[in-house]
Amino acid sequence: MSEISFDLDGRRALVTGASRGIGRAIAEALAGSGAAVAITARSVDGLAETKAAIEAKGGRAECLALDVRDVRQCGAVIAEAARRLGGLDALVNNAGTEEVRPSLEVDEALWDKILDTNLKGAFFCAQAAAQAMKDAGTHGTIVNLCSLTSEVGIPTAAPYGASKSGLLGLTRTLAAEWAGLGIRVNAIVPGYFRTAMTEGFFADEGWQQAMLGKIPLGRFGELRDLKGVAVFLASDASAYVTGQSFVVDGGYLASI
Ligand code: NDP
Repeated sequence: MSEISFDLDGRRALVTGASRGIGRAIAEALAGSGAAVAITARSVDGLAETKAAIEAKGGRAECLALDVRDVRQCGAVIAEAARRLGGLDALVNNAGTEEVRPSLEVDEALWDKILDTNLKGAFFCAQAAAQAMKDAGTHGTIVNLCSLTSEVGIPTAAPYGASKSGLLGLTRTLAAEWAGLGIRVNAIVPGYFRTAMTEGFFADEGWQQAMLGKIPLGRFGELRDLKGVAVFLASDASAYVTGQSFVVDGGYLASI
């Protein structure tokens, strides 16, 4: 038998922003590897398709409404998820939002919306998950969805870039601080994946052609490309990995 285990049988995971896109793909991947998953988004109705897809393959999904900008909700909903699942072994901080705007036109409302969702929300979800793991005396893993803007400057993405750079810093800080609790914290840095969030970019044929020219593997990411790394980071196969970021971008960052 292999000493390497990607198996998530018996594990309990929570994925924020699992109603569509990357969060849905990751929730399905974790469930497909054996985890019972709590899936969250601002509206429970939006989670029906993810739940149905997971259950169709014999998995278990608990749906909970959670607006990650509300710190109290983060604590209460993550505690409720841990209660329903009988504990919590993994959190994926995926919920996120973006709106490109020239920096000279960014106002406080846009700044707050993006920072509160992508950075403050991720921190308080991580804090609530770590508390649940500590109280139960279990080991755990936290995965944060960062971005190319965590690594490089992308014009008109100031609040988003600040939030995602902050999230990468947070990943390293929490990894160092919570290693003693047996909690590992890592990040995934996706390149360009076609989702509701990026639809505006993809609608521009010129942007697509220019971007494809910068991606050595010659194609945009498919949601399945993120599944392996998510399962790896949630499983014991990554038991000695913490504070790291995993770039899944077809070679874009390596070549610019
Ligand atoms: P989508 O817009 O397709 O999905 C975003 C998800 O986040 C939805 O499920 C949405 O659910 C949820 N969400 C948004 N705001 C909140 C909130 N305030 N509270 C709780 N949930 C919320 O985006 P993607 O799937 O593309 O992105 C997922 C993550 O990956 C994000 O963090 C994004 O920044 C990151 N990313 C994406 C890339 C890409 O190319 N697509 C590239 C790099 C990073 P609902 O609206 O139902 O609440």
